[in-house]
Amino acid sequence: MRAARFYGKEDLRVEEVPEPSPGPGQVKLRNAYAGICGSDLHFYFYPESLPFDPSRPHPLTGASLPQILGHEFSGTVVEVGEGVTGVKVGERGAVFPLEVSCGECLACRRGLPFSCLKMGSLGASSPSGGLAEYSVFDASLLHVVPDSVDLRMAALVEPMSVGWHAVARTGVQAGGTALIAGAGPIGLGAWFALKSLGVEKVLVSEPSADRRAAIAALGAQVIDPLHEDLGTAVAALTDGNGVDAAVDAAGAGPAVSSALASLTPGGRVVVVALHEHPAELALTGLMMGETEIAGAVGYRPEEFDAVIAGMAGGFYDTSGWVEERSLDEVVDALHALRAGTGASKILMRL
Ligand SMILES: [Zn+2]
Ligand SMILES: [Zn+2]
Repeated sequence: MRAARFYGKEDLRVEEVPEPSPGPGQVKLRNAYAGICGSDLHFYFYPESLPFDPSRPHPLTGASLPQILGHEFSGTVVEVGEGVTGVKVGERGAVFPLEVSCGECLACRRGLPFSCLKMGSLGASSPSGGLAEYSVFDASLLHVVPDSVDLRMAALVEPMSVGWHAVARTGVQAGGTALIAGAGPIGLGAWFALKSLGVEKVLVSEPSADRRAAIAALGAQVIDPLHEDLGTAVAALTDGNGVDAAVDAAGAGPAVSSALASLTPGGRVVVVALHEHPAELALTGLMMGETEIAGAVGYRPEEFDAVIAGMAGGFYDTSGWVEERSLDEVVDALHALRAGTGASKILMRL
């Protein structure tokens, strides 16, 4: 089969590799689409910045280089291994890529497996991955999608779940109000999650005119934080009360500062972005309003299902921010995403 394998810094090769067969408890998927994510850019351009050394065998999965990339993917089951009863050949689904965590560290024991330093993920630290024609993994990782969700949409369940998890961490309820900073794929995921949850009063702050236009075309109320006054816009949205929740999907200090300043008393900001630089924050407002700031990373299996239900309910729309390419163009896609030219999300056809 054809697969995109990572050999080392700026060395990703689309090549012929043996087709995998499912072991006991596993399914074999004919992969349909795989999205390229920010962490794939880290692999390719800055492997030294990864939280683990990909050149050493993974302690739990045994994976070593070359590594098939791609952890945001969908497909159709073509074979099931011995003992698999819950999944049938022909079923279609989205893949939950967090394959294994150690089960022993403090993060695992506190129910935060996505914060486990030994977490093994399909497409990053596993023998299998999404940027290939076939993959094999434990049957429990497949989240079957209904007929109304196509495989292109199903490949977006993973990145949309990151935004969903961040929104869930804010604690916002139906009828509440929210601010999203950043309209990249995670900010879009937060916006769709809020819509699905019945949070209608949402303001999206995004400095890029293209990204602002893309999310505005989907119906979002947008603001350019560099040239418009965010405080005024938040006040207009909320009758002067401030928002119940804010999601930082921007990764810039000023975005967090203005999100904190936009909160209603008791509100919460959730940071779901990587920050390359430390931020300077005015924290007196945090004290005065008994507001909160928290982090979010990863997602839970039930959040995958919530996103799938939102997709089936028609709350998700790929117009204007998703682009398709063939697997042979994967290196071009990485460069396009790094340069910020083109769509926010690129799906590779497999
Ligand atoms: Zn990702
Ligand atoms: Zn652990």
